[in-house]
Amino acid sequence: MHKLVKPINYNGSLVTHYELRELTLGILNNVTKKQNMYSALRELVNDSVICFRGSNNEEFIGSHVGIISGKLVYKTLEAIIFEIVKEAQDDTGIDGIYFCPRCNEKHNEIDYLNDIEVVYTDMVNDEFEVELSKPIFLKSKEAEEEVVGFKIRYPNIVDIEKAKGEQTRIYANCLIEVNKEIPSKQWMDVFSQKLFDSIPVKEPGLKEFSAELLSFGIKTVKQIGCNNCDKEFEYDINMSNFFVSSLRQA
Ligand SMILES: [Zn+2]
Repeated sequence: MHKLVKPINYNGSLVTHYELRELTLGILNNVTKKQNMYSALRELVNDSVICFRGSNNEEFIGSHVGIISGKLVYKTLEAIIFEIVKEAQDDTGIDGIYFCPRCNEKHNEIDYLNDIEVVYTDMVNDEFEVELSKPIFLKSKEAEEEVVGFKIRYPNIVDIEKAKGEQTRIYANCLIEVNKEIPSKQWMDVFSQKLFDSIPVKEPGLKEFSAELLSFGIKTVKQIGCNNCDKEFEYDINMSNFFVSSLRQA
């Protein structure tokens, strides 16, 4: 039995654990049939999880597995995929080439799966309130809107799949309130992505949100010392690429 990196409320239960079956050629067949990377990863989880378990030992099987995996925060799902891949293959590590941002020196790094840290949280909440440091003005042909704040939830794989991985579309899919009100479908269609396209990169509210998202799950950000300029720099292990390539080779 494995622990979820972040629990989730489902059907009146607090789901905290899951069980995995061994990766088989049949599962790989189903996964590689999928065109899109995110659909493939979803298929992998749905085929590999035998059951999700609640904190009072309730068991969720069958169609519940797919529903729960679609609702899990992506970071939680990513950690399940990590576990599946880790159990299925020898730990030959993740090969990556990273360039020092200061002197551009090339570094070839191998990160072993057993050395990668996974952080667990008991926090159930998956919503985040952002008060913008300055209002954002949005324009369409018919209307002009002022946004002073919004509420957003942590993205799940369905949000990411729908947005084809595009960051501002992912955020738009997760938007739940604008100026303390639930926006209409029409507002969402016209303005939701525009809002995130218009937010400055340095907006502290959004930075806090990303920091909270990075506070649990697989720690993909690593620090190394550059042997050319003697300074430290950070790189981010590309997990999605690794998952896809290890499924192809398995
Ligand atoms: Zn350097």
